[in-house]
Amino acid sequence: MPVMISLKLRSYRKELLDNEDIPFADIRQNMKELNIINTHLGGHSITIDGIKKILKNSPGNKPITVCEIGCGGGDNLKAIEKWCRINSIKANFIGIDIKTECIEFAKQQFDSINAKWVTADYKDVRFGNNKPDIIFSSLFCHHFTNEAIVMMLQWMKANATKGFFINDLHRHPLAYYSIKTITRIFSGSYLVKNDAPLSVARGFTMNEWKTIFDEAGISNCNIQWKWAFRHLITCCDPPSALTIDSPIGDNETARDANNPAKYDVSIIGGGLAGLALSIQLKNKGYSVVLLEKEQYPFHKVCGEYISLESWNFLISLGLPLTEMDLPIIKKLVVSSPGGNYLEHDLPLGGFGISRYRLDHELYKIAVSKGVALYDQCKMEEVLFQNEQFTLETTAGAFKSTVCCGSFGKRSNIDIKLGRGFITQKNNKLNNYIGVKYHIKTNFPADSIALHNFKNGYCGISKIEDDKYCLCYLTNAANLKENNNSIPTMEKNVLYKNKYLKEVFENSELLYKSPVTISQVSFSKKTQVENHILMIGDAAGMITPLCGNGMSMALHSSKIAETFIDAFLQLKMSRDDMETGYAKKWQQTFSRRLATGRLIQQMFGKESVTNRFISFMKQFPMLTKALIKQTHGKPF
Ligand SMILES: Cc1cc2nc3c(=O)[nH]c(=O)nc-3n(C[C@H](O)[C@H](O)[C@H](O)COP(=O)(O)OP(=O)(O)OC[C@H]3O[C@@H](n4cnc5c(N)ncnc54)[C@H](O)[C@@H]3O)c2cc1C
Repeated sequence: MPVMISLKLRSYRKELLDNEDIPFADIRQNMKELNIINTHLGGHSITIDGIKKILKNSPGNKPITVCEIGCGGGDNLKAIEKWCRINSIKANFIGIDIKTECIEFAKQQFDSINAKWVTADYKDVRFGNNKPDIIFSSLFCHHFTNEAIVMMLQWMKANATKGFFINDLHRHPLAYYSIKTITRIFSGSYLVKNDAPLSVARGFTMNEWKTIFDEAGISNCNIQWKWAFRHLITCCDPPSALTIDSPIGDNETARDANNPAKYDVSIIGGGLAGLALSIQLKNKGYSVVLLEKEQYPFHKVCGEYISLESWNFLISLGLPLTEMDLPIIKKLVVSSPGGNYLEHDLPLGGFGISRYRLDHELYKIAVSKGVALYDQCKMEEVLFQNEQFTLETTAGAFKSTVCCGSFGKRSNIDIKLGRGFITQKNNKLNNYIGVKYHIKTNFPADSIALHNFKNGYCGISKIEDDKYCLCYLTNAANLKENNNSIPTMEKNVLYKNKYLKEVFENSELLYKSPVTISQVSFSKKTQVENHILMIGDAAGMITPLCGNGMSMALHSSKIAETFIDAFLQLKMSRDDMETGYAKKWQQTFSRRLATGRLIQQMFGKESVTNRFISFMKQFPMLTKALIKQTHGKPF
């Protein structure tokens, strides 16, 4: 009397093949028979269907690299190689299997095909910049638990540039009893006799696949039932929104509103933090979309003095700083509203470059690397569900596994997320305005001035092309008291500092009107909000008089990149990525921010600033130490 088994749930009974001590002669017999089953019951043609589907979605003339995980003796790769040869498709192959004997056997059998055979647990394989185009597994997943398959899918997704697919068994009574009978009659291998029906019992239903893919946060996949009792699941990345060859205005043409493009990482805001992060992640081979509401190139309120701690990092992103003939700034001069004056060498120093130029150069690098960069695209809503983000923007919807907020000091997204600093009442740290001009003036190229006035301060330093940046920060009350008129406020308040008056009266203003911003806040922020990793000013803003905000923005992108990479490589959980990033951010920047807030309190009130400058003049070492406290080391 045959024993009836329940196929309602997946069986987790171990197959004989999963034991460590099976003699290789038996494994070889098993692989030979599996190849016969695959050839005659359509297994290979399903695998080739998977290849065809991905190539159809992502056509091209370049040679392709196809990687199989759990490749056994290499028969599947051989079948694909044959199909590629017939169809004149140039292809390279990678076969990965944990069993040395299988890899040795594959090498012996298929010495002639252009394949790299790797003995390894697939999870430990790092492709670096040479990721395969297509990754697949055939009759491999059913050896694993659902949880392990979720990780496997995320690994496949992170490592395949065109797409990945799975060919595995449908758990069905008809399949189970048929294969049991066939193998009992025809098979000469005890492994096949035991494992073939058991592998069906370990197989999947269509709904189980849907749940597993949901848990993996992968939505762009297609599940097909195939004869005989198999599923073919193909997942293709949508084509990049923008490549270097396509004109920038054409972004929308690559989009399909009903099928949002899915990326490894989405970045909201294309200032320094967002652009730098996009380049680093692209260098690691991830698919990245960056959304910026303005159109490049554009001006931004910023003092445009950047600490030298960022020099090497910017060069590593591809910016040819040494060839750009930029002013190197080594000296600081500070004046109080009453005319008190302090000069000091800057311990590390900085250089001058306009944000118009700096952000534009980074933008061009990001585009050339293949970042899908949408400018004039405002982020409206971001939702985290089933391990993935959905982003609603003025250019349509996007999806991603990781999302980073680099939307600067204050954005509509902060309001949507109800972030703490937005709901705070106005106080000493949260209600500032910023004003910036580019000017032609007479001032030493190697110095930066910080001139104080009632309730504010103004920085002046050289940037490119014999231009200077003049940028000041003041509280909103100052403007209100002067009829909300910038020229009136400048005449009534800024001109009271004789040095500033001289600069305004003896310089040529290069724009008709200044660039301005309002509602600047230096209040504390959180570094992770609703699973979004915040970088740059969105994570926390240092007071501008420290001249360190840009370096902090760049440095935070480097920290974030390390954690995102580890998460996408499945070396850490999402939770660990989030807590690890926030902790590292705090360790790196919190001292600078606290010192910046403290110094900010010393500037603004005339008498306090005067006394502060007189005091610091007596103690140059203290001045040096204070400047150092607000800066970091090269990173
Ligand atoms: C008055 C002033 C002077 C300063 N001077 C200096 C200085 O001399 N040196 C220095 O190192 N730092 C200075 N800073 C600080 C420095 O400007 C910032 O720290 C730095 O710009 C932060 O970069 P970021 O990438 O985080 O943000 P940003 O450069 O502000 O970029 C954020 C981007 O996000 C975009 N964005 C916002 N919302 C959305 C949305 N919903 N959808 C799409 N895109 C969006 C914005 O358009 C913007 O381009 C100064 C700041 C101020 C206010």
